[in-house]
Amino acid sequence: MKDYLVKATLFSGKVRAYAVRSTSLVREAQKRQDTWATASAALGRTLTITTMMGAMLKGEDTITVKIEGSGPLGAIITDGNAKGDVRGYVMQSHVDFPVNDIGKLDVKRAVGEGTLSIVKDLGLKDYFTGQVPLVSGEISEDFTYYFATSEQIPSAVGAGVLINPDHSVLAAGGFIVQLMPGAEEDIITKVETAIASVPPVSTLVQEGYTPEQMLQRLFASEEIQFLETMPVRFQCKCSKDRIIRAIKGLGQEEIKSMIEEDHGAEATCHFCNEVYHVSEAELTELLK
Ligand code: ZN
Repeated sequence: MKDYLVKATLFSGKVRAYAVRSTSLVREAQKRQDTWATASAALGRTLTITTMMGAMLKGEDTITVKIEGSGPLGAIITDGNAKGDVRGYVMQSHVDFPVNDIGKLDVKRAVGEGTLSIVKDLGLKDYFTGQVPLVSGEISEDFTYYFATSEQIPSAVGAGVLINPDHSVLAAGGFIVQLMPGAEEDIITKVETAIASVPPVSTLVQEGYTPEQMLQRLFASEEIQFLETMPVRFQCKCSKDRIIRAIKGLGQEEIKSMIEEDHGAEATCHFCNEVYHVSEAELTELLK
């Protein structure tokens, strides 16, 4: 089953909804970063939400999410775009704790206290930035708070990641439901009731709900208008060219010492862990 995302509206467009199955992309991130269970859950939830926030963008716009907490994970960095590409990493991937008192992966403990920052690159040097304190450390609640505070959009955000005992990813997915301006009181009540009565996202994901079924489970008898379906994937932007350009930016002296001392250079992409080798000859070429 491939990862994909659906966009939908309800109540004559006054409610906007997104749902995604992100199992493969979170699985790929886990493999590339070798994250342990609690780190995988934190990164996976963030990637899942970033995927949906990417889908809210247009054209070439991109979004970067940074969760900087005091916990052992250090920071979680993800980015995404409107085409369903997403990537991300955690500073410390080998973080795992016993499950918390409700039997869930203790993401809060791994994240700690700190901030959630969002940067949207909207092209033509137009940026949107927002930063909020982490209110929970469980990720979904922090994004809910972000939407309410920074974007003034009342939202319900849910993301769930299930991890196998061997640390591999069993399943992942999530949803975002947002109230548009003009949503009347009775709609707000209906949405709140729906959100309150739905099982945890991880349960829906475990039971194999498709993104459409997730929204149908949420809104039961309400009419959902599915607008669009799009594939989503873990996709890094790194390339040998980018690495070479970065090395070029270090300046002549630095490049000379790479040649003389190391006879080449090696760089690892934080996002996907791809290792790039730049030969002595390629470095010499840069000096010309
Ligand atoms: Zn990369």
